This record gives sequence, C-alpha cells and structure tokens, in this order.
Amino acid sequence: MQPDALHVCILSLTCDIVQLVSCQHFQAKLFNAMEKAMKALTQKLPENVQEVLDQVLEDVRPLDGGALADYIPELAKADPSKFGICICDTDGNIYKAGDVNVPATIQSASKPLLYMLALAERGVDAVDKKVGEEPSGRPFNEISIDNTNRACNPLINTGAIACTGLLAGDSDKRYKQFEDLCKKVAYRPDEVHMDEAVYASEMSCNHDNRKIVDALLENDIIPEGTGDVALDAYTQVCSMNVTACDLAVMAATMANNGVNPCTKDYILPEAIVNKMVTVMMSCGMYNGAGKWIVEVGIPAKSGVAGMLMCVVPGRCGIAIYSPKLDVNGNTTRGVHVAKALSQGLGLHVLQNDSKDGAKDEQDKKKTGSKVAPAPKPNPKFEKKDHTAIEVRAADPTTRVPPRLSGVCPATDGVSEVIG
Ligand code: GLN
Repeated sequence: MQPDALHVCILSLTCDIVQLVSCQHFQAKLFNAMEKAMKALTQKLPENVQEVLDQVLEDVRPLDGGALADYIPELAKADPSKFGICICDTDGNIYKAGDVNVPATIQSASKPLLYMLALAERGVDAVDKKVGEEPSGRPFNEISIDNTNRACNPLINTGAIACTGLLAGDSDKRYKQFEDLCKKVAYRPDEVHMDEAVYASEMSCNHDNRKIVDALLENDIIPEGTGDVALDAYTQVCSMNVTACDLAVMAATMANNGVNPCTKDYILPEAIVNKMVTVMMSCGMYNGAGKWIVEVGIPAKSGVAGMLMCVVPGRCGIAIYSPKLDVNGNTTRGVHVAKALSQGLGLHVLQNDSKDGAKDEQDKKKTGSKVAPAPKPNPKFEKKDHTAIEVRAADPTTRVPPRLSGVCPATDGVSEVIG
C-alpha cells in the first residue's frame, strides 16, 4: 500500500474508534498512539537517523586506510582527512555529519547521470543498440565492448564515453547539458561548476580513455568524427565539483523517481530513472557487484576523487566523501559507511528488514552501540605501500591496461571494484 493511502486508512480508522469512545482522556491517548503508529509506518527513515549518522561517522573515521588516486596528478592534492556523510530522504529532509560541504570532482559518480542524459535525449532503443546493461567484470578504464558491438556497461569509462558520444553538440554544449542537469538536483546549485585544474590534469594523461574512444569509433558505437568531442566532454563532466550534500540530493532525486525531493521539481522521466537505478544495482560496482549486493544491497556508484553515492529507492539518497581509496578503487571509508548504514538503518533493498532497524536490537544490546558495529578493516585493504589505482593490477585474471602492468603483486581473493 502507498504511504498516502495508508495514512488515510489509519486516520479514518482512528476517527471511527474515537467516535465509539466517549472518555476525552482516552480519546487523546488513542489519537496520540495512532499518530505515532502512522508516522512509523510512513516515514522514510528511522527517527534516530541523525544519531545513527553521527555514530557511524565516529566509528568509521579511524578506518582510513588506502591511498589517494594519483594517476590524475591533481587528485593527489586532496586533503585525506576530509570525511563527510549526507543523507537526503525522499521527503527532502537532509541529515549531515562531518565535511559535507567540501567540494571534490564527481568523477565516475557522474556516469549514472550521463547515462540518463543519453537515454532522455536519444531514446531508450537508440541507446540500447550501442550501450548494454551488463557488469563488465573489468577495470573501469579498460576497453569493454561486447560481441554485438555495444559498450558492455554504461557505468564504466567505455560506456560513459559512449553515452557522451551519443549526445548532440560540441563538447562545451554536452558538458553544459550535464552541468544544467546537476544544478537542478544539487544542494547548492550555484556552486556547481567545473574544476579547471582537474580537467587540465586529466586531459594531460588521458591515454587510456583515448584508446577507448578509438575502439568506440572502430565499432561504430559513436558517430564518425565525434571522438575528440566525446572525450573532451567526458573529461569536463568528470571534473565537475560537487559536495556530499549535492550528491545526496542527486541520489535522492533518483530514489524519488526523478522528482527532486527538496524543490519538488520534475527532473527526469520515471522510466529512465528506474532503468538507470536497476542497471546501477548490478553494474555500478563492477565485478565486486555481487559482494556489494550481498553486504550493502543498495544501487551505488563511486568516483576516484572519493565520492560515493547510494540510491535507496523510495527512501533516500546517501553520499559519502572521503578521498582515500581502497584496494578496489572505492573510497575506503565510504564502503564502511555504506555497510554500516545499510545495517543500522535497515536499507538493504533485497532484505525485508524493519524500517526501525529492529533487527539490530540484539547487536545494540550486545555492544551498547546505537548502530551495528562498523566492520573491521581488512588488513589486506590497508596496505599503504601502493596507490589504490596501481592495485587494479592485482587480479591476475584481469587484462591490465599498460600503465598499470606489473606494479603490484597478486592479492589473494581480492575482487575488483573500481569506479
Ligand atoms: N575521470 C576518471 C577516468 O576516466 C574517472 C574514473 C573513476 O572515477 N573511476 O579515469
């Protein structure tokens, strides 16, 4: 039943009962109890969400292993101590903890939005002919094209550059289109703009993405003559600055079927948002997607500057910023936070947890904590003698792009989750 229908139903039931009861004191009590029940049944998040958020921030703060991404030199200048979590629910309530107003480039967290732009502009059928919906099982920057000449996955570089290549206009127009969309769903729309230094830095070392463009052209995935435009626009898009609050409202808009829950503006068609969010569930975390679905169970997308966005359909958007990346290329603290919030707030979309996190009562009793304990850091993710990006070479079964070859010994059982 829809929350609104539930609301009406409980209200009319309450009125009926109240009419049957004459004692005023009892009537007031009954109203109170019914109101509480109604709130509990219809609210998007448990009442103690801010408390949970503050607790998770403190629990996860020490788990800051990993390294800054440095294959884009400008990203290595980030302040590794920064750490913020923001939740925006689908009623537009915003909860913040830590450094939620620190800007960083969106990087691969832009890919869901780029995919939706292409779907909206070109239509689902046209995009489906060029871009698939399969987890690619490859590092984010590897050429990934299926045997029907489609980019496998819209949420890694090959697919995202293909989506950028399918848009119309010169590179500035394509970037502007993306920026305009982001402004409509950002917490601080006036501050959303491209970081010129990061853009220049990535343009100076864009060799792998250049190879992807060549493959897209060869396979007729993007129109002839549009390679430079697609690459330039894609790099601009990745270089756009956002904060955790911006990203949380973006994620909440996706969780709210394309309507910005803060402004109530209709931004994107529901069918496109639903398709993208569904694809994000299996494709957003690459070949670590299975583990992510089991442990976190929320459609999500991260970027190499340390942003992570999670979309909990019908309930909320979550964004985390912490720039150090784990062995898989995801924000180390972000992954811990996502697991802790999924458990602490009962957000796993495939598990029928009660909304008030009641299943964690036992944990709370045992630990005295308001949230399920944050997972202990896995020592093999905490190595400090390599950069997170170098470790993409760790899986011996993975074809490694040239610049990553031979930089790190194989790590047992470490799945690749990039992006
Ligand atoms: N701009 C980055 C790149 O193309 C984005 C990668 C990422 O965030 N995973 O390499």
